[in-house]
Amino acid sequence: MRVLTGVGVGRGAVVGPVARAYPVPVVPADLPVPADPEAAAVELSAAFAAVAATLHARADAATGTLHEVLSATALMAADPSLVGAATAKVRAGAVPARAVGEVAGQFIDLFTAAGGYMAERATDLASVRDRVVARLLGLPEPGVPALGRPSVVVAEDLSPADTAVLDLDKVLGIVIERGGRTSHTAIIAGQLGLPCVVRATDAAGLEDGDVVAVDAARGTVTVDPDEAVVAAAQTRRAALAALAADTGDGATADGHPVQLLANIGTAQDAARLEDVAVQGVGLFRTEVLFLGAQTAPALEDQTTTYAHALSALGERKIVFRTLDAGADKPLAFVNQLDEENPALGIRAYRLVRTAPELLHTQLAAIAAAAEQTGGRPWVMAPMVATVEEAAEFAASARAAGIGTVGVMVEIPAVALRAADVLAHVDFVSIGTNDLAQYTMAADRLRGELADLLDIWQPAVLDLVAGTAAAGLAAGKPVGVCGESAADPVMALALAGMGITSLSMAPAALAGVRYSLRSHSLEACRAIAAAARAARTAPEARAAALALVAPEVREALAL
Ligand code: PEP
Ligand code: MG
Repeated sequence: MRVLTGVGVGRGAVVGPVARAYPVPVVPADLPVPADPEAAAVELSAAFAAVAATLHARADAATGTLHEVLSATALMAADPSLVGAATAKVRAGAVPARAVGEVAGQFIDLFTAAGGYMAERATDLASVRDRVVARLLGLPEPGVPALGRPSVVVAEDLSPADTAVLDLDKVLGIVIERGGRTSHTAIIAGQLGLPCVVRATDAAGLEDGDVVAVDAARGTVTVDPDEAVVAAAQTRRAALAALAADTGDGATADGHPVQLLANIGTAQDAARLEDVAVQGVGLFRTEVLFLGAQTAPALEDQTTTYAHALSALGERKIVFRTLDAGADKPLAFVNQLDEENPALGIRAYRLVRTAPELLHTQLAAIAAAAEQTGGRPWVMAPMVATVEEAAEFAASARAAGIGTVGVMVEIPAVALRAADVLAHVDFVSIGTNDLAQYTMAADRLRGELADLLDIWQPAVLDLVAGTAAAGLAAGKPVGVCGESAADPVMALALAGMGITSLSMAPAALAGVRYSLRSHSLEACRAIAAAARAARTAPEARAAALALVAPEVREALAL
């Protein structure tokens, strides 16, 4: 058995056949002009027709949004003006793959300029272009293929948009060659409850149909697993299912409450929580709603979406995070700046400097949704750096009519001055993904810097502990909504530091609830102290793990 190792996301384990997803093709610079332009034009026309047929077949096999997206894209691939313009160029002597790119580019510009519904179609057209070009170059069509049976999707990388249209009935798990634990694709996979291994560097050798066992807790992908590995995956699934029977509120063994909350990205995610034992939503990543949008979402549309989410949660808490656009989550209607260091640029709350109407429309939509539903939304801004920004955001949100206002602690500057920030807001929520990125000056998308981005880095632990202490002193809630909240060992350390809520992918709730339930507050404090006394990240985790109850280590494969 060959075992590939990477970074696991989640605690699940699955076994299934590989289905490879392929990247967008790159057109080589030196493609020759066809000797017979007429034959090349016919071939190009056939490539468009083949793409349209494949997309129609996939659309027929799909339901809901996926069906709509695929049908619209199939129609586009058969559009006579598009095919006609591209074949005319080839007849006039152009290289076919380039002709497709140029013609599609012109249409994309037109669509984008037209705005509204037309602008939304630009993404479909880009998808047609990439599929036709792949065919012409003899490469597999990009993106996740149609899945005929439950499969483990293996890719070099998946964009958040690819991940968002996965056919959830057929995807068992995800293996990605690149990325890291906190790249957004891994987060979305975790969100969907799919066992995922990222940074599985040797996954390039996996082929369609290879059978693999994906163990997210161990971060391993076993090729051709033997019976023992298959049985272990089944045992793990049964153990996790048994833990899910506990539906109580989050608390330590001696009853110290630690709110357990879910991270969501869409109103459908909120709807899925209706039957989930969770005390609310600690992070609604609202930018996920608009990843494919070409134009700024209108007030009414946003209001409708937020009202759905508020209704789905009923009496439970829900924290809306205002748009966190930029860096690896570009939105087509903002961030037109050509930034050299986008993660350090006009990202997230900073967009208020260049596009203040985005924030104000969003706050108005959240307030209007609250009015419509009788819900009581909490709202927080991402990537706040100063006390002035926190105060300014709080004033804007309160002026819009929102009662509970907070900011995220993602930049060390704010963690260091948490007491001053807390004087202006009702709560803070620590985004440990970005806090680690900015504390360690390590791009969270660079899997090869995983050691620096380790959530157990002593400097990051110090900033989290300092923020928690400021919250305790101010008598205000301090939550954690980064990926570290989903780690059953880290959750204990966070509770021990005084963190009041943990927000995570719903699939992680059962493990964290069980871990908390199995330790007293005093034990959590001892775990936090042991981790903080360590000098390095591996030592911090080892020191914490050594104090975790043996039955928890066993059940969760820690
Ligand atoms: C974080 O940075 O930890 C966070 C929760 O926000 P995001 O992952 O969406 O940047
Ligand atoms: Mg963040």
